[in-house]
Amino acid sequence: MKKVVIIGGGLGGLSAAVTLAQHGVDVQLFEKNSHFGGKLMPVQLGDYYFDFGPNTITMPFVFRHVIEQTGARTEDYITFRKLSVHTKNVYEDKTTFFLSSDRDYMKEQLAVIDRVGALRYDDFLREVERLYRLAKTHFFPRIFRSFFNYMSPSLAFALLNARPLETLHHFFQRYFTNEHVIQAYDRYATYIGSSPYMAPATFAMIAYLEMVDGVYYVDGGNARIAQTFAHLAQKAGAQLHLNRAVKRVVVKNGKVIGVELADGEKVEADVVIMNADLLQAYRELVDPHDRSYERAEPSISAFVMLVGTKETWDDLAHHNVFFSPNYKQEFEHILAGRYSEHPTIYVCAPPFTKEGSSLFVLVNAPPLTKDGRMQVDEQAYKQLVYERLRSYGLNVVPDVERVITPLHIAEQFGAYRGALYGIASNRRRDTFLRPSNACKRIAGLYFVGGTTHPGGGSPMVVISGQNVANHLLGAKLSLPF
Ligand SMILES: Cc1cc2nc3c(=O)[nH]c(=O)nc-3n(C[C@H](O)[C@H](O)[C@H](O)COP(=O)(O)OP(=O)(O)OC[C@H]3O[C@@H](n4cnc5c(N)ncnc54)[C@H](O)[C@@H]3O)c2cc1C
Repeated sequence: MKKVVIIGGGLGGLSAAVTLAQHGVDVQLFEKNSHFGGKLMPVQLGDYYFDFGPNTITMPFVFRHVIEQTGARTEDYITFRKLSVHTKNVYEDKTTFFLSSDRDYMKEQLAVIDRVGALRYDDFLREVERLYRLAKTHFFPRIFRSFFNYMSPSLAFALLNARPLETLHHFFQRYFTNEHVIQAYDRYATYIGSSPYMAPATFAMIAYLEMVDGVYYVDGGNARIAQTFAHLAQKAGAQLHLNRAVKRVVVKNGKVIGVELADGEKVEADVVIMNADLLQAYRELVDPHDRSYERAEPSISAFVMLVGTKETWDDLAHHNVFFSPNYKQEFEHILAGRYSEHPTIYVCAPPFTKEGSSLFVLVNAPPLTKDGRMQVDEQAYKQLVYERLRSYGLNVVPDVERVITPLHIAEQFGAYRGALYGIASNRRRDTFLRPSNACKRIAGLYFVGGTTHPGGGSPMVVISGQNVANHLLGAKLSLPF
């Protein structure tokens, strides 16, 4: 393999760039935006700093692995901080329930509001750990290059044991009886852009990551992860270009031979790795007639408000969730393409701003309509969100403010219908048969990122980049963590 072109500088593309460049491969990466990190985007509004995108960081060892394979020390670039009590859940009846990776703390809390849950808590953690280990061993380190990869007996064994037929909601009901507690765990479905009433219980492994391994953030902002990847890829010899969009993947006799940039320049390549969202980019850059990927259901999107306030709130945790009274109905509305009038509101209050607060406010939103329209009036919905927060006692008075809607997400990142996590995992087919990382129609074309295997979320897309890079290098697809 002589030359690799990577389309897109999101975490998936950067992860592949670091590993390939480190092994002496000639790598050129083209990113259409003016920052590296894709959806993990730093935003500065006056004195207020925000991370747009991933605010909840789990599996820090995945990011460390990419950094440290270059010989660098993670600590020289970024510091992961573990949050002990990481999430405050608030309900309409004003009760609160906190999430923490401290087992004793959780049991004490559960003993008061969910005695059965307290008694079953050890079993719960044991089971979610089993699910995580199953996925880590059998699902994560694969690219599904050919049909035969699906035939592996170990994969079949793992699939059968991963609770594919049970829903997440049903799974949590096995262990907990308090509706608020179940709702807090049900929310993990949104980490994969899906509904807890449909997504398979396999994803209860997220509870292992949050409740055992822990929730982290990066000092100074999570966007530093992407900046570090970009720096190390360049240091290893990769050429990374910002503000340069790819217009077309050039194919000859069923094999990629390069890409054409928006300004008309042609760049030769033996391999092209597409980090741009496959659902959108395959049609736009590879084959305008092929709409097969668009049959997949996009994950949910988000209505985001970045709000800088002069005020600080001592009673906010790093992550806060103000729950809607009827969670099931909220997901039914989202899946029907409607914005909820009583939305669950997530507020991240990281310690990034010396005076005042940088609040990242997110409401789950339906993806755009198929013809690219947003189903709500931006200004009216923003006021509704402020009003709802006030009803929970949070009177947010913006000093600065920026609203980022599904329309912006679709436009800025090329995300199909503004989906946050590529394909939703509401259907078993979409969960267990995500698009493979190797194009089956065009030789030399590979895919990394949230839409492909193993899935959305910042650690997963980094793993997809590692898998493709290791495959191209002829290395074993093992994940040494
Ligand atoms: C609001 C929000 C909240 C989220 N919260 C979390 C969270 O708390 N935790 C978590 O783990 N994950 C979270 N995620 C999901 C996470 O951000 C994504 O799964 C991950 O960052 C996606 O990385 P990626 O590499 O797949 O794609 P992207 O980050 O989308 O990168 C793709 C890149 O390709 C570029 N591109 C597209 N087309 C072209 C072209 N033609 N030419 C050149 N470049 C192109 C895009 O500009 C983009 O930079 C969140 C996402 C959002 C939007």
